[in-house]
Amino acid sequence: MRIRSELTIFFLIIAIIPLSAVVYTSYDYSKDTIRDSVLDNLVGATENTGQAIDNWMDVRKSDIRIISQSRMVADTEKAQLHEYLHTFEREHNGVYKEFFILDLGGDIMFSTLNSTGNVSNQQYFIEAASGRLFVSDVYLSKTGSPEVIIANPIKQNYTLTGIMAARVDIEQLYRIIETVDIGTSGEVFIVNNEGAIIFHENRSKILQDDVRNIFAVKEVTYEKNGIADYINYNGEHVLGSYYWLPLYRWGLIVEMNIYDAFFELMALSRLTLAISLFAVLGVTLFAIIISKRITDPIKSLENGAVGLVEGHFQPIPVSSKNEVGRLTEIFNETAKELLDIRKKLELKIEIANKDLETKNKELVIANEELKKLDSLKSDFISLVSHELRTPLSAIRTSSEFLESVEDVDPVVQKEMLDNIIRNVDRQTRLINDILDLTKIEAGKMEFRFEHVDLNQIVTVVIENIRPIAQKQNVILSQDIPDKLSLVIADKEKLIIVLNNLLSNAMKFTPEGGSILLSAKEDQNCIEVAIKDTGIGIEKAQLDKLFDKFYQVDTPSTRKIGGSGLGLSISHEIIKAHGSTIQVESETGHGSTFFFKLRK
Ligand code: ADP
Repeated sequence: MRIRSELTIFFLIIAIIPLSAVVYTSYDYSKDTIRDSVLDNLVGATENTGQAIDNWMDVRKSDIRIISQSRMVADTEKAQLHEYLHTFEREHNGVYKEFFILDLGGDIMFSTLNSTGNVSNQQYFIEAASGRLFVSDVYLSKTGSPEVIIANPIKQNYTLTGIMAARVDIEQLYRIIETVDIGTSGEVFIVNNEGAIIFHENRSKILQDDVRNIFAVKEVTYEKNGIADYINYNGEHVLGSYYWLPLYRWGLIVEMNIYDAFFELMALSRLTLAISLFAVLGVTLFAIIISKRITDPIKSLENGAVGLVEGHFQPIPVSSKNEVGRLTEIFNETAKELLDIRKKLELKIEIANKDLETKNKELVIANEELKKLDSLKSDFISLVSHELRTPLSAIRTSSEFLESVEDVDPVVQKEMLDNIIRNVDRQTRLINDILDLTKIEAGKMEFRFEHVDLNQIVTVVIENIRPIAQKQNVILSQDIPDKLSLVIADKEKLIIVLNNLLSNAMKFTPEGGSILLSAKEDQNCIEVAIKDTGIGIEKAQLDKLFDKFYQVDTPSTRKIGGSGLGLSISHEIIKAHGSTIQVESETGHGSTFFFKLRK
């Protein structure tokens, strides 16, 4: 799961659990409070109404009691009594429908409505005749209104003389009942002890509808007070409060539609639900925003790291100054350093690769050269073998001749012996060359530097080579200033070099050519040059000329022969003098070999 989702869930859990607990607790508390208050209010209103009914009936009873005991009833003329009672009726706004007086036989002696007849069988008569005030059951009058008859004995000097009775319209109770708040659909009614409706706003229900099975009616007829929710006679779910009026054996029932009664509770539920939903939505939004704020920089870091790995790193914008902001800064700096290091490494690798490439090329060239050298060595071995064999066979031929012929002509004998000596010299030279080269390669050649007069050396080497030059018809000349400074050199080795260069010049200069040995002095050095007008050397060969065993392979040079070591040895010797032999040459026009010696 992603951190963002985890954080969102975490925030939701830590916010919604306490929130739910608070909302639920306060809802539960408020619900109980509202419910209790609704029940209390309804019970209170019912009790108050019940007591108001009691009071109202008490007033009625005391009215009858007072009238029945007044002298007016005993002494006054009927006309006056009429007047008095009518006035009384008017003053009580129709509560009293009729006053009547009965004799002890139950005959109506007096009536404000002039009624006549005998009521001795009526319970109110019987009860009042027994000496006490009596309230009859409720009945419906001719006009359809519910009435009771209140009867009280009339006594004179403690002797019962008649009964005073009054028809009381209990519909007047409506004024009391209408003060009870029962909502638009509530009902208030009174039942008698048998469970029949004796008072109802709707007259048609009085003593008509059977409500005995209704819960509240049952309870109240058991003389209980209380409150309950139940289904009333209309099939409606109601909250009903019931109150028993023991004096009259009536039960007052106040019913309210359950939804009206608990309207506030419903409103509270809806409000709580709306607040909860709103809070959950708010908390969710808040959790998402906070999680996003926390995880966005981490996501940027992740993207940055991926970019760094994949090679398209872009610095991450630093959006805050907190720990994550600092971390982002450090990451950016580290990434920059890493990229720098990477660049440097790449550059180094590139350089190393190029270096390797160059080295590789050099190796290839060196390998080629080694191969060439190898073949040169093979050539050289066969050459050396040939060179060694040639003088040997000449020596052998001359020796065999001298051995086989007796009395050899002294001239021929000398010629043969000269031939032998010349060939021995040739072999010696070749072997010396090889030995010199071996010494040079092993770094074992010893040099004895001293101040050397070049004139002296040049004279020696020129004189050495002159006979050959004359023989080959090559003009040999020298151009050495008389007053030449001394040079620092190993005399013997310098003679080897000059001999070499001169004998090469001689070898490769055809008849009629010329060789010039010259020297010129500058501030520090004397430059020695051997110039010939021989066959010359191709430009491409010049570099390799001083390599060991190297010989320019042309038909003419091949004919001349040699070891390919002379220039190598000369080069090494001049190198040991702190200088180099250089060559300028043009094919067909001769060559010049020159080098400098320190004065
Ligand atoms: P070599 O014993 O073959 O002369 P060197 O090392 O003295 O060996 O010379 C190497 C090669 O250089 C010769 O074989 C020849 O081809 C070339 N060479 C040297 N000197 C001259 C020169 N003066 N004129 C033309 N070619 C020369």
